[in-house]
Amino acid sequence: MGSRMKHVRFTIMIIMFTLLLPLCSGYQADAASKRDYLKIGLKFGSNCVSTGILKSDQGFLLGTIDGRRFEEGMPLPAYNEIVITNENGNIVVKDKDGILLSADMGSSGCIMPADYDDDGVIYYDGTPYRGGVQFLGKSNGTMTVINVIRLEHYVYGILNSELGYTNPKEALKAQAVVARSYAEQNLGKHSADGFDLCTSTHCQVYKGYSGEFDATNKATDETEGEFLLYDGEPVSAFYYKNSGGYTQNSEDVWSGKLPYLRAVKDEYSPSYPWSTSLSFEIIKTKLESAGFSPGTIQSVSINAYNNTGAVSELKIVGSGSTVYLKKENIRNVLGATIIKSNMFTLGKGSSSGVGNGTWNISNGLRVTESDADAKLYVISDSGKASKIDAEGVFGSNGQVTILLGTRSSEPIQTVTNGTVEFNGYGYGHGVGMPQDSAVEMAKQGFDYKEILEYFFTDIEVE
Ligand SMILES: [Zn+2]
Repeated sequence: MGSRMKHVRFTIMIIMFTLLLPLCSGYQADAASKRDYLKIGLKFGSNCVSTGILKSDQGFLLGTIDGRRFEEGMPLPAYNEIVITNENGNIVVKDKDGILLSADMGSSGCIMPADYDDDGVIYYDGTPYRGGVQFLGKSNGTMTVINVIRLEHYVYGILNSELGYTNPKEALKAQAVVARSYAEQNLGKHSADGFDLCTSTHCQVYKGYSGEFDATNKATDETEGEFLLYDGEPVSAFYYKNSGGYTQNSEDVWSGKLPYLRAVKDEYSPSYPWSTSLSFEIIKTKLESAGFSPGTIQSVSINAYNNTGAVSELKIVGSGSTVYLKKENIRNVLGATIIKSNMFTLGKGSSSGVGNGTWNISNGLRVTESDADAKLYVISDSGKASKIDAEGVFGSNGQVTILLGTRSSEPIQTVTNGTVEFNGYGYGHGVGMPQDSAVEMAKQGFDYKEILEYFFTDIEVE
């Protein structure tokens, strides 16, 4: 069959091609177009692999990725499965029978399916992707695996993960513009590992070809090449689930003040209440994990709110130290899926059945039951008694019980009884576009540009 001869010839051509590489630099630093590629890290860090298997029904095309441009090289139409390994720093390509196809792809080598320009997909370890795959050798003999993909196809692969395909079309289109802008603005976020963006919530959740749906692809196509621009430049287009009624200034959550990320009173926010309780012990553990040494927790207080009503500082007094958690650090330290937003108040706590009508609420203060009516008083060290509003606090048979989790109860500033109840609204950091509100606006007939213009200040969609 002369197949051995063919392999040798291919190998020689690949070597010749590799030698020509320096002459083929095709990168143009122009604005992003639909032909520009970006690099999505599939396996990196501790997840690097020692072997990669690629499959394609139509065969392969070896080439290079130079900047954001793919340069075609050696076609391998006769192979449907190839195996890539790192041998002493060389990225080696063999067929499934172990016959050598390329002795070294080099650090800019990229493997496309032969029909990559015609909606072809390539399978990496069984999962289909548009675009191609790049392997970067590491000194420990493993490889970083990267999906090299066009920006528009990348948006195909994330849109449903970030906003489900059943949502109204104009909301999906708004999400497509935001996701595309975010990607463009965050190119090189993982440059230390040799790619642009990862596939998790750290960047945007990307599932490749399997994550595509007609509705989300259509929303991408109908906004093709459109970005959110401020002063003609793509912006950091942040988004999250629910604002809780007010979006946030960027500097009130992180540190940098950006003119297009301003707090907006969100008239379209569907109600998203949440409630959670954390014991002082759990708060102590979380603070210790974040490097603080609070000792035994004695109280938790809201120390400051910002203009939108979000908590900007939480004060935690412990026997070892007093810890101040500010802005987004409150959620980062206590858990961003537990404390869903900074739009919270503290409830009365969840201690119950404290003994014989006396409940210590802080150093030098007691709550005591005065009589059969179970009226409650705060008594200071000096013996001065003040009646407190007993709504949500009941006494009977000499026991005082605190009603748990009542939203109607008055928010309090400080919790000292061992368990903090957080009652809040919204989900996410609050900066930029709340997806729930985008969906609500789309339902009310707003188009995607109106949605984006509502949440991003002084921007253009182009
Ligand atoms: Zn990432």
